[in-house]
Amino acid sequence: MEYFKANTLRIYQDSAPIFNKSNGKLYDSNAAIFDVEKIRQDFPILNEVINEKPLIWFDNASTTQKPQTVIDRLTYFYQHENSNIHRAAHTLAARATDAYENARETVRHFLNAKSVNEIIFVKGTTEGINLVAKSWGKQNIKAGDEILLTHLEHHANIVPWHQLAMETGAKLIVAPVDDQGQILLDEYKKLLGSRTKLVGLCHISNVLGTVTPAQEIVNLAHEIGAKVLIDAAQSIAHIPIDIQELNPDWLVFSGHKIFGPTGIGVVYGRQDLLDATDPWQSGGNMISEVSFEHISYRPIPKRFEAGTANIADVVALGKALDYVQNIGLTAIANYENELLEYATLGLKTIPGLHIVGNAMEKASVISFLLDGFAPSEVGQALNKQGIAVRSGHHCAQPILKRLGLTSTVRLSLAFYNTKSEINHCIKALEKIDC
Ligand code: PLP
Repeated sequence: MEYFKANTLRIYQDSAPIFNKSNGKLYDSNAAIFDVEKIRQDFPILNEVINEKPLIWFDNASTTQKPQTVIDRLTYFYQHENSNIHRAAHTLAARATDAYENARETVRHFLNAKSVNEIIFVKGTTEGINLVAKSWGKQNIKAGDEILLTHLEHHANIVPWHQLAMETGAKLIVAPVDDQGQILLDEYKKLLGSRTKLVGLCHISNVLGTVTPAQEIVNLAHEIGAKVLIDAAQSIAHIPIDIQELNPDWLVFSGHKIFGPTGIGVVYGRQDLLDATDPWQSGGNMISEVSFEHISYRPIPKRFEAGTANIADVVALGKALDYVQNIGLTAIANYENELLEYATLGLKTIPGLHIVGNAMEKASVISFLLDGFAPSEVGQALNKQGIAVRSGHHCAQPILKRLGLTSTVRLSLAFYNTKSEINHCIKALEKIDC
């Protein structure tokens, strides 16, 4: 049997058993951690055949696939509950309102937030960051203030702050990273100062998989009185988050990255901060009283949910979070770490393949380049084998530029992926011929 050696594990390329040091036996690592084959049955799309090959979905950082329970929840909503919410005395309005507000409680519980009032539904991470920049930001950021970002940020956590800086005369400051894609914490500390009003930080880089030292940065920022927004788009489905422990001022994520629908996301905001912030969008649903002379707003969170909400997708997001919680994020993180290690070792055996970003703390995202092939050619060649990866700039041009690149191939894993799928991908890359 062919195998390659990791630091602590012997990993075999075909059936991928693992050597258990305590009992000296080889066992199937997938089955030992959780039953991945059983989990895969929950995701109907994983049965798709693409170019006469079984689909291998390695584009999870872009979006995740949906379990049947989430799909069913959407259908059930439209079959039995569909109504607008909060505004009518009829039965369906009560059903839809209950389902919507129950989902808010599910999100609160998932994050361990103190109150449901701290949970606002938005379209996704992008809209969430815009909400903070265009409400709190506009009301609090002044000329000469500094907004501290990092080189790792997604465009969603750059553009709204850049716009705000342009409008207010504030300054964008960018914390550097080393060649492995890790934030240089000593440099970071030097950039924090009395002018720093807002710190924006991705929890996990969508390009390199770097897990940032979010807890340390939140603490450092708070020591100097700055507010912190955590972009949890990439972390929400991969590492457990306890909001009261992490203690950011805001944290945003998208439902579609955690096995929920597209078009729905969450802003967590600290209650006192949300209470003190005026809304950025206005209209129906967010008001208490309206006359042509005077308008008063509803309390949070509704003050930030103008217009008819994306009700069905909120409800289905709640189902997705329940699904993830049933498996358990610690078990998910452990399994994905094992997949990450396996994939990294395997990819490193391919001649001419270079992994971009080798942070010590890394989540299940691997960017790479293959000598002689453009990333788009690698993506197309893998697609012929039924394997979906991303190629391009991943909406994070500054970090690629920092590393002297314009694009990479990105393979991103989720808990329904397997070592066998990784083996297929490695074989396809070994034989690549455009
Ligand atoms: N932030 C990060 C780190 C991301 O990876 C993404 C999407 O890939 C976003 C923000 C934007 O998310 P959305 O497009 O769901 O708003």
